[in-house]
Amino acid sequence: MLEMRHLVSGAAGFIGSHLCDRLLADGGEVVALDNLITGSERNIEHLSGKPKFTYRKFDVTKPIEEGGKFDQVWHLASLASPKFYLAYPIETLESGSTATRNMLEIARRDGARFLITSTSECYGDPLEHPQVETYWGNVNPVGLRSCYDESKRYAEALTMAYHRTHGVRTNIARIFNTYGPRMALDDGRVVPAFMDQALRGQPLTVFGDGLQTRSFCYVSDMVEGLVRLANSEERFPVNLGNPVELTMLEFAERISRLVGIKGQIVHQPLPSDDPKRRQPDIAKAKKVLGWEPKVALEDGLRETVAYFKTRLTTA
Ligand code: UDP
Repeated sequence: MLEMRHLVSGAAGFIGSHLCDRLLADGGEVVALDNLITGSERNIEHLSGKPKFTYRKFDVTKPIEEGGKFDQVWHLASLASPKFYLAYPIETLESGSTATRNMLEIARRDGARFLITSTSECYGDPLEHPQVETYWGNVNPVGLRSCYDESKRYAEALTMAYHRTHGVRTNIARIFNTYGPRMALDDGRVVPAFMDQALRGQPLTVFGDGLQTRSFCYVSDMVEGLVRLANSEERFPVNLGNPVELTMLEFAERISRLVGIKGQIVHQPLPSDDPKRRQPDIAKAKKVLGWEPKVALEDGLRETVAYFKTRLTTA
């Protein structure tokens, strides 16, 4: 395999750090950027000192002056948790817009391939179920979540424009809920929240009636999907996620059982515009990439609980 030189934004984040592991394992060279607004150097500290790995604390909303020629640009920098994008709406809009443009410019400069991690939030609170890539979504353009949804929709449009106008070889991954080791404990998303609460013996905070659904994909499956997508000729968005759909009440029960507690639940208000149902249709990924998730929820959750246990004892 040819040695590839990769530029990764959001490299100290949850998925970004696992992607760096994979690219290095495949023999690539990685230049990793992160402004640490939500990422953590802890996620990549095991890579420091590796000859093919360079990390720079850098905010990709600023013009990128990274020299040398890249073969592949990965734009993962994003505030993906509702807790953080609600706290930093302007930075979130910037990471979808200015940062995407800066990363695309590097791909254009170098004739590199470009992949952006977009989101199932492009479908908003979907009126079609499961969500197929050809569904255009049901997004509130001025709601609290719009900073995330609309900037990702803009990022997709910008990516297509760079492909159509400048011939950049682009890919768009629409990532559905993903979980695994290296999620931040204070991330606010349901996986770390429930696990943290269960491991501390506290009641699990179910928002609303808990009948809203999500589908959870383990991070190793997600990284495999991203790598396959980057190697494909598909320019339009591709859903990547696990189609197994659960209500948040069912999910709370699963996590309680896994941690071995009785699992009390407290209901808290549902955040505004919280999607009621979310499940990827992955027929396109199966067909175009030959990809589907391999890790069963039970196994992935067990790995993740083990990680959070060590985090709680070392935090
Ligand atoms: N949720 C919950 N309790 C929590 C955190 C989240 O019930 O402590 C719910 C949230 O309302 C949503 C689902 O879990 O319906 C997934 O939320 P998350 O923040 O993980 O990501 P989202 O899919 O909304 O982007």
